[in-house]
Amino acid sequence: THFGYREVSVAEKRRLVGQVFSSVAGSYDLMNDLMSLGIHRAWKRYFAATAQVRRGGRVLDLAGGTGDIAALLRDRLGPDGEVVLGDINAQMLRTGRDRMTDRGRVRGLRYVQCNAEALPFPDASFDLVTIAFGLRNVTDKDAALREMLRVLKVGGQARVLEFSQVKAEWFRPIYDFHSFQVLPRLGRLFAGDEDSYRYLAESIRKHPPQEELKAMLEAAGFARVRYRNLSGGIVAIHDGWKA
Ligand code: SAM
Repeated sequence: THFGYREVSVAEKRRLVGQVFSSVAGSYDLMNDLMSLGIHRAWKRYFAATAQVRRGGRVLDLAGGTGDIAALLRDRLGPDGEVVLGDINAQMLRTGRDRMTDRGRVRGLRYVQCNAEALPFPDASFDLVTIAFGLRNVTDKDAALREMLRVLKVGGQARVLEFSQVKAEWFRPIYDFHSFQVLPRLGRLFAGDEDSYRYLAESIRKHPPQEELKAMLEAAGFARVRYRNLSGGIVAIHDGWKA
């Protein structure tokens, strides 16, 4: 593969992540369904339904991509709430905005091209900051976590949904087979793009597991950090608060 476990420079990683998401933007939603057998929809619904929001609140959904999380959260805020969908990739943002607009969803939604590591928002701007299947791709995760804390209001919640470490030993070989054999083939078949999907599987293995990510949130300054595994740890939701 061209971007497997070998060491890559920070600049090169940024470029590769950009390339992966530009190349998958169009087929992204279909691939998510195929990859997770549709289960990602349930994870996202749970993630949004149990996030700490209030009517009229302001939410930042980072690495928001094609807008699944932003749409779910928007529904919980009432007419005066706002969700800002932030993503580093213009193509993903455009796909997300078009999809929302086609469904008649315009009010209380904004789109901002931004890097999670250096957010273009003032301190204490949001009641909730979410990042779903995004932190894994961020080069400087500690910087991103510090930025999430900075833009939160006191009492606000940061919530991370990300692939994590599968708990059951017996399930690991099956999961690995799916990730490294099935997934890249699905990528080739449905998106004409095997390498991007291989990159995704590899990036999941390199992402810090549950306890390590919890420690990173604490080190960034979050209070009351906790996590919950979904589907046996295939994904986990981490929460932290700004005290
Ligand atoms: N949150 C969406 C979802 O759950 O369907 C999209 C997740 S997608 C796997 C990852 C997204 O992260 C891509 O849209 C990519 O452009 C974005 N991304 C990668 N690095 C980023 C960064 N440093 N800052 C902001 N967004 C980033």
